[in-house]
Amino acid sequence: MSDSVVTLIGGHPVLDFANTRAWRLDPVRAVDRVQGFEAWVRWAVASGLLTADRAEVLLRSEAADSASAQAAIAALTDLRATLWPLLDALVDGEEPPVQEWEALRRSLVLAREDAALPPAFPLRWQSGADHLGDLCHALALQAEDLLGGDGLDRVRRCAGPGCGWFFLDRSRGGTRRWCSSDDCGNRDRARRHYSRTRRSG
Ligand SMILES: [Zn+2]
Repeated sequence: MSDSVVTLIGGHPVLDFANTRAWRLDPVRAVDRVQGFEAWVRWAVASGLLTADRAEVLLRSEAADSASAQAAIAALTDLRATLWPLLDALVDGEEPPVQEWEALRRSLVLAREDAALPPAFPLRWQSGADHLGDLCHALALQAEDLLGGDGLDRVRRCAGPGCGWFFLDRSRGGTRRWCSSDDCGNRDRARRHYSRTRRSG
């Protein structure tokens, strides 16, 4: 796992969103990589959910400490906390937990309520981009897209102990195991090398 603030290895905005906490499954090392109003706006640009121009307008028009910005950040972290157990259930082949499923349903209803429906084919809901709160709605609709779409059986969780990052496995055989072969993959090779040399020594 690299140390840059914005690491996009998920292959889908919703997975990259879930991955904004590094070492999610290691309570000692877990760290939120994106914190505060400006960081979330920059993240939205990097992950392709917001254009750079819209981001500049948003950063100028919405005060970072405004009640609406703080509410939007709270909504984002709530949605992320909703998505983690759902994605874990998905990759573990389990039923989605009822409480989080209901929270996702509410997020989707709100996102649809707030979205525009431009009169054009193909039919597509379009979230706004005037407030940070719109980012949460956009991510909810993207989550619907991911969890109801073709990529569903390609969602994986990194096999690295404690890592917890998700990604879309686009490898031909569907055998990708690591968030990154340079990070968790490398650590695994080092670990196995160490146990081999200890056994033989
Ligand atoms: Zn990993």
